[in-house]
Amino acid sequence: MYVLSTIAPIFEEQESITNYIGIQQDITDRLAAEQDLIESEARMAAVMDTVPDAIITINLDGTINSFNKAAESIFGYSSDEMIGQSVDIIVPDEYKEAHRNGIKRFAASGKGNIMGTRVELEALTKSGRRIWIEMALSSVNAGNKRYVTGLLRDISEKKVIEEATRVSAVAFETQEGIFVTDASGKILKVNNAFTTLTGYTSADVVGKYPSILKSGQHDKYFYEQMWAQLEQQGFWSGEVQNRRKNGEIYPQWLSINRVENTQQNTHNYVAIMSDISKYREAEEQINFLAYHDVLTSLPNRALLKDRIGQALISAERHQQKLALLYMDLDRFKFINDSLGHAIGDKLLVKVAERLSEQVREEDTICRTGGDEFIILLPDTDADGAGHVAEKLVENITTLFEIDGNQLFVTLSIGISIYPDNGEDAESLNKHADTAMYRAKQAGRNQYQFFTTEMHSQIVYKLELEHALRFALNRGELSLVYQPLLDIKQNKITGAEALLRWRHPELGMISPLDFIPIAEETGMINPIGQWILHTAIAQCKQWTEAGHDLVIAINLSAVQFNNPLLVSMINSILDEYQLAANNLELEITESVAMINIDLTIKQLKALAEAGIRLSLDDFGTGYSSLNYLKKFPINKLKIDQSFVFDMLIDEDDEAIVDAVITLARSLGLKTLAEGVETPEHLQALKNKGCDFMQGFLFSRPVPAEQFISLLNHPPLSNLGVD
Ligand code: C2E
Ligand code: MG
Ligand code: MG
Repeated sequence: MYVLSTIAPIFEEQESITNYIGIQQDITDRLAAEQDLIESEARMAAVMDTVPDAIITINLDGTINSFNKAAESIFGYSSDEMIGQSVDIIVPDEYKEAHRNGIKRFAASGKGNIMGTRVELEALTKSGRRIWIEMALSSVNAGNKRYVTGLLRDISEKKVIEEATRVSAVAFETQEGIFVTDASGKILKVNNAFTTLTGYTSADVVGKYPSILKSGQHDKYFYEQMWAQLEQQGFWSGEVQNRRKNGEIYPQWLSINRVENTQQNTHNYVAIMSDISKYREAEEQINFLAYHDVLTSLPNRALLKDRIGQALISAERHQQKLALLYMDLDRFKFINDSLGHAIGDKLLVKVAERLSEQVREEDTICRTGGDEFIILLPDTDADGAGHVAEKLVENITTLFEIDGNQLFVTLSIGISIYPDNGEDAESLNKHADTAMYRAKQAGRNQYQFFTTEMHSQIVYKLELEHALRFALNRGELSLVYQPLLDIKQNKITGAEALLRWRHPELGMISPLDFIPIAEETGMINPIGQWILHTAIAQCKQWTEAGHDLVIAINLSAVQFNNPLLVSMINSILDEYQLAANNLELEITESVAMINIDLTIKQLKALAEAGIRLSLDDFGTGYSSLNYLKKFPINKLKIDQSFVFDMLIDEDDEAIVDAVITLARSLGLKTLAEGVETPEHLQALKNKGCDFMQGFLFSRPVPAEQFISLLNHPPLSNLGVD
């Protein structure tokens, strides 16, 4: 608009010139008229030179007709140089063709004032510099001549400013939140990212002070420092905790720049802020992982070490005790192997949760890997530690339900106490570990305090472990057989095969001592196979000799959880041609409860093969009636501990009674273990117990002796002639 209004008076003048020339169209006055025309052109040129804008007139062949003073100063050419030249000289190469075509079209149209349009385009100066010009085009008729007139001005500077403004507008809308304040700190402008970041819209904050963003997490001193640096150095950057509109506090990286005016006074502050909560979270995550177990999120050994260190310092200073509990899940490996690691992992997570529920906030519970956990109990003596351990052992046995599997686990715990069992972390750790080892050896599902004798026990155990590797091949293992009797008929109906190990130097070693070692080391597999072969072959001999006997063989957890168990046993039965119902497999109640679903599956497969099944050591584990009725078993073996005391302890007697009643209601037979006196036998008979085994009738004996028991049963032992 500005250009057009400036150009208008010139056009008017040109119009009047045109009219004037038009009236003078007389052939006779032609010379005078031409003279006039020349004069008016000169007058025009003089007028043009006074105009501050550049005016260039072009003939229809594209040559320059006039070039005023302002044009000279823009382009650096003198009008003498330019008049008669093609206008191409100031047109950049890439526009030359379009430019020529434009003039041609205009010439061909033959019309008068058609243009008057305003364009912005690039042009070349004499020095070759490109400049931006704004041009208003018009046409001029002078006599029978037509010209194109361009009124133009250099807008290069304006272009640069425009470009910069456009760039800064784009830059203002970046990912970072930006706000601009005046010198007093009052907010003038914010970008969109600011709103996304803080939740405040421009309307919320413009005219207010940035203190609206404060979280209250920084003290006065913090802001004083910030302002001091801003004044001295013109910028400040750092981490700030700010509060979003929704109240959430978040960390941000804030950079503030002071912008000065030409008098070097503060004019604005520009603050750029980015949300670094993601980085902080990632950082925290990394720190967390360094000190925590990924699976359970419990502290790991590194953090525990730290905590033990601190707890020891505090215990020493305040003359307090502290307890370290080493824990290991019993037979976790079976769950992992039979149900897969995914379920094993889920179980560990739940175990971690359950253990955590049992301890105080100031205690540290950590997972050190696998199924091992450690608990640090500051300010706790042996009594307190025993109390906690008891709770843990008891609590863990409540069934875990994982992906439809009912899982039963038990814990073995070893305890060491500061300063009684050690004054530094290393010895406390070592001793708690030793005590845990002892808890495992003593039958698992229990806790043990460290004692100095445990050292020698551990050494003994290592010795056994080493020697057991050679026991089978060196013929040190053998089987003994203990008769199983029908109480009503006073008749031997079976034999339980029991394993013996005679070590050349250490002598007889109890299966209670070496079978757990064989299980842990995997040696139970070859040993178990040997037992099955030997006992089944033995039973075959006896049946051949005319004794219809059931051979009862104990299965360890490792054997029982082997998916190939059924086919393996079937092939051994085939090999020795023994009928399946001459074989009874004993699994202990605690082995049956490790993984109930698997137990049911395995027991069903064995039962379908015609093999008899009994639950050994019944009453010591955690059987629930619910599961018991799903087990396709034939017999419950009442654990000897109840039988021993049933005549003197009412509770034990009640258990014996309950087991017999329960078995009867489930259609199962009962066998009492450990029957040592006729009184026991009489009591059991009265209670309706079906079978017995015990020293009263016979100890376990080698096969040669067993045959004489069969041939001449010492019934007098039972009080029967
Ligand atoms: P168990 O299967 O409950 O075996 C019965 C245990 O009670 C045997 O101990 C037996 O000698 C003992 N016993 C029998 N009658 C009496 C009695 O009247 N009084 C007393 N005090 N004890 C009696 P043993 O042979 O020392 O075996 C202990 C345990 O070791 C067995 O308990 C069984 O769990 C395990 N075991 C023994 N042999 C084998 C085997 O071949 N394979 C597996 N996996 N485990 C076995
Ligand atoms: Mg047994
Ligand atoms: Mg038993």
